[in-house]
Amino acid sequence: MLKLSKQEQAFRDEVRDFITSHLPPDIKYKVDNNLLLKKSDHVRWQKILHEKGWFAASWPEQYGGKNWSAVQQYLFDQENALAGAPFISPFGVNMVGPVVYTFGNQARKDAYLPGILTSDTWWCQGYSEPNAGSDLASFKTPARRDGDGDGDGDGDGDGDGDEYIINGTKMWTTQAQYADMMHMLVRTSSRGRKQEGITFLCVDMKSPGISISPIITIDGLHHTNQTFFNNVRVPVANRIGEEGDGWKIARFLLEHERGAIADTAAKSRSLAAIRARIKLLEEDGMNKSRLLQFQLRAAELDAETLALIAMEQRYLTEWQERAPRPAEAAALKVRGTELQQKLFVLTADLYGPYKMAYDATYIDRGEMPAQRSPAQEASGGGYLYLYGRCASIYGGTNQVQRNIIASSRLR
Ligand SMILES: Cc1cc2nc3c(=O)[nH]c(=O)nc-3n(C[C@H](O)[C@H](O)[C@H](O)COP(=O)(O)OP(=O)(O)OC[C@H]3O[C@@H](n4cnc5c(N)ncnc54)[C@H](O)[C@@H]3O)c2cc1C
Repeated sequence: MLKLSKQEQAFRDEVRDFITSHLPPDIKYKVDNNLLLKKSDHVRWQKILHEKGWFAASWPEQYGGKNWSAVQQYLFDQENALAGAPFISPFGVNMVGPVVYTFGNQARKDAYLPGILTSDTWWCQGYSEPNAGSDLASFKTPARRDGDGDGDGDGDGDGDGDEYIINGTKMWTTQAQYADMMHMLVRTSSRGRKQEGITFLCVDMKSPGISISPIITIDGLHHTNQTFFNNVRVPVANRIGEEGDGWKIARFLLEHERGAIADTAAKSRSLAAIRARIKLLEEDGMNKSRLLQFQLRAAELDAETLALIAMEQRYLTEWQERAPRPAEAAALKVRGTELQQKLFVLTADLYGPYKMAYDATYIDRGEMPAQRSPAQEASGGGYLYLYGRCASIYGGTNQVQRNIIASSRLR
């Protein structure tokens, strides 16, 4: 298990004290009741963290971070989740931010990093397409280079002008309805292998020609979208890296996305809520054999959570000595999301037949009536159960993660 030094223990205590004393009660209420967090909730909390210097703290100091070690970031994430604070929206700070300071030129760093740090610029991710998810490199959306209509403005027709023109569609663009910017993959050449000819662009979501069509997920809520591009002009200056560097950058970004997924503190919170609910059922006089079944299921998930914590901490300990391997991040993603789904199934089952009365209205509004009916009470559990189904799909499906593990370890 992870051994904390005295400084790390003091750091954890400081984080715990700060979060407990600064988390706005109305935001905590939403998290405690499994209600939908709005962009404004995330921004408010992220700005509080930014003022303290704890937002993007694992970024290098020269870019506004604090150079936090992997252990410090882990301790922060644990305390943030245990306290009932909102999760940190990853598209800016965890995804495009590290891409910009690693691959971007000074102008891109100046343009994008300050807005990510203050959460004044909200980002979404445009990678997947209707026929390209697991096999991401087969995506199509082309970006043609054009300066002035005939080619590039210099009259030679070689298409090296100062704008790209994008036509196509991106699928499952989560939070695109709120986003100011999208980081996206476009195809700038169809020559060579499909991993070649991919370019990484940052696109202003207010650009003429962008339209968004909501996708309402199984929980009845609007988290994600299909985004369409109709002759959307994007300055070449918005590119990160060189033309054709996109696949290398996308792989770097996906490793950042996957490693963060085990999220064990949120699971410990779910378990605590499950135990509290079982206690209530016991006090209400639930039949002993049914109660025992629930207690056994909770005990099994408790053991699985402890095993996942051990896995996560081993990953972290090794991280301090060498860069983690993709197979290890993949294993954490698979075990983490499977356990999350089991916890949410048990949470919903504890509401018995009331779980069928799921009503998205309360979840969306972010408010529950003070006097709740059992059906209203069950809606929070229903939301976790329904939305939780997508955890084994996004960030790379669990089947694809198993392929990564197999090809790395079973050769
Ligand atoms: C709620 C939600 C939010 C999302 N947010 C975003 C976002 O913000 N931005 C973004 O770009 N994308 C986003 N995604 C897309 C997500 O990354 C893709 O859905 C995912 O990569 C799977 O791709 P797909 O949906 O095309 O399924 P497919 O790739 O078509 O897969 C269909 C099934 O086949 C299986 N399969 C496919 N290939 C293999 C293989 N080689 N071996 C074994 N099994 C295989 C898969 O596991 C899956 O079960 C989101 C998805 C969801 C559900």
